[in-house]
Amino acid sequence: MFEVDLEGVPQRAFTGALPSAGHIDDLVREAHARYVDTPDGEVADYIPELAVADAAWFGLSLVDVTGVAHEAGDAAIEFSIQSISKAFVFALVCEEIGHEAVHARVGVNNTGLPFNSVMALELNLGSPMNPMVNAGAIATTAMMPADSVEHRWERIRSGLSRFAGRELVVDDVVYESEMLTNTRNRAIGRLLEGYGRLDEDPEAVVDIYTRQCALLVTAHDLAVMGATLADGGVNPVTGERVVSAEVARDTLAVLASCGMYERSGEWLYEIGLPAKSGVAGGIVAISPGKGALGSFAPPLDPAGNSVRGQRACAYLSRSLGLNLFASSTAP
Ligand code: GLU
Repeated sequence: MFEVDLEGVPQRAFTGALPSAGHIDDLVREAHARYVDTPDGEVADYIPELAVADAAWFGLSLVDVTGVAHEAGDAAIEFSIQSISKAFVFALVCEEIGHEAVHARVGVNNTGLPFNSVMALELNLGSPMNPMVNAGAIATTAMMPADSVEHRWERIRSGLSRFAGRELVVDDVVYESEMLTNTRNRAIGRLLEGYGRLDEDPEAVVDIYTRQCALLVTAHDLAVMGATLADGGVNPVTGERVVSAEVARDTLAVLASCGMYERSGEWLYEIGLPAKSGVAGGIVAISPGKGALGSFAPPLDPAGNSVRGQRACAYLSRSLGLNLFASSTAP
């Protein structure tokens, strides 16, 4: 069960706007101070290069829908985006080919099983069930329309960069480290092909998927990317429309049910926000119409979610009134 001490933190309602900028700054700093010494969790090591991360890194960023940032700690340290890329690639592919096509091939229901489960595919007759597990993400990446493998990769890299508002680049060391050890994802690619859920060469698709996971971001970048979904698909810092308001809405719905691995239900119950996490320790949590939180702290719980990141998001969701389900009675 998700554990966080919110004793004495009053539940503000989602209804209405964010508090004043100064108050947000104070609460972001308070969230950082409150959990910076939390020792729990383990740094991921199944991708060897991730194990070199400093377990003490902890950064928080909240970017509101006007593009203003509120930050504390290591919000400018770069790390690989990993699974968080799945959310934004899903949005880009829906923008290109429509959400019905992605829904038909990939689905939008939680598997209740780990992100890299092969059994989930077998139990569901080859349906990946949702785009936030590896099978669904690999199938989604393959659906990005392109003339060639490199063109598909460039469309994904530049699309994620538009969400971030800056050119994102791959951490080659992380990419190569994962390519040497990702036999399981290659097997998932082959299995998808066998079930007729992949029209492209599985090896090439898994290669692109691995590159998208190795893109470097900061907690600040995650907050800007999330704020773009909170802002109806327009990046509030650059002013560029990245996806339609409908695609932003659909992406948030998938994140609410599937974004936090098999803990998605508990996360929604405790924190009440669509969110996505990645095994390098990032989390993005989105408050529609208000803004987004980006957090980075490498030690993870057994499902793969950053421990300090979850606690900070819980604190800020409650104290800033971000929980979608928290209403106040009309005057
Ligand atoms: N690249 C990682 C994998 O495919 C991403 C996992 C994650 O962040 O959940 O295993």
